Amino acid sequence: MFNNLSEKLDKALHVLKGHGSITEVNVAETLKEVRRALLDADVNFKIAKDFTNRVKEKALGQDVLTSLQPGQLMVKLVKDELTELMGGDAEGINLSGNPSIILMSGLQGSGKTTFSGKLANYLRNKKSKKPLLVACDVYRPAAIDQLHVVGDQLKIDVYSDKGNNNPIAIAQAGIAYAKENGHNVVIIDTAGRLAVDKAMMDEISNIHKAIQPQETLFVVDSMTGQDAVNTAKAFNDILNFDGVILTKLDGDTRGGAAISIKSVVNKPIKFIGTGEKMEAIDVFYPSRMADRILG
Ligand code: GDP
Repeated sequence: MFNNLSEKLDKALHVLKGHGSITEVNVAETLKEVRRALLDADVNFKIAKDFTNRVKEKALGQDVLTSLQPGQLMVKLVKDELTELMGGDAEGINLSGNPSIILMSGLQGSGKTTFSGKLANYLRNKKSKKPLLVACDVYRPAAIDQLHVVGDQLKIDVYSDKGNNNPIAIAQAGIAYAKENGHNVVIIDTAGRLAVDKAMMDEISNIHKAIQPQETLFVVDSMTGQDAVNTAKAFNDILNFDGVILTKLDGDTRGGAAISIKSVVNKPIKFIGTGEKMEAIDVFYPSRMADRILG
């Protein structure tokens, strides 16, 4: 995960590690390399610039130049700032409803259906919930079948209504079915398109208004870098969602989305997807991710 970024940051900070004492010029040069590493990882220019400016301020404020181990202190400052940028403490999912309604949003191919299954499995196994999956993609029958395959595999109920082309009606019927059958969590998988368009945004926005979920999650493919951040912004403007799910972190992603998304939409990344299997789901902990990035 983020091998390239890790290597570059390590190289940038390594220069300082050997120094017993350092100068302001050393700090500036190191931070220039840190910024370059972030840009290479597809972090937006302004975010990268603000990031290194903040580290610089802290470094000078904390007397890095006269500290005993300036290199170590710089690594710590970068790690702290990276943690802060990715979102501080981890936040859970709101499960206060009865049933708790979780609405999944995102582009087609982002991993919504896969993640819906992963989340249902996680909530059943780790939180002792009885989830119901609801298939609301009325455009692609294959998407409904896919959710049934996931449900069958996990032995988790799936509600669908093939032929019904009204996603709000399906979502509402799914919630009614959940109440009748003792499901205390309803996960609603919705239709995505290949790019942000008005019809998709109107549809998800109308579903959102009609069912008033406790939790609206935005699913995004981490491999798409700055596009992921732009898409997040578009969805957040419409839905004011509660959290981000970053998928495909097992792939050759550069890391830009993981680093930038929180500061653009000011919403936490709640979970990450790290593979195609139903078990490949992890709670996102910014500090652990920063540790991983900085080795
Ligand atoms: P949807 O169109 O948003 O519902 O996306 P899907 O759930 O169908 O996922 C699209 C593709 O991405 C499928 O081939 C999934 O197996 C794959 N996928 C989803 N999540 C992950 C992940 O975390 N890692 C990897 N490697 N593949 C994933």
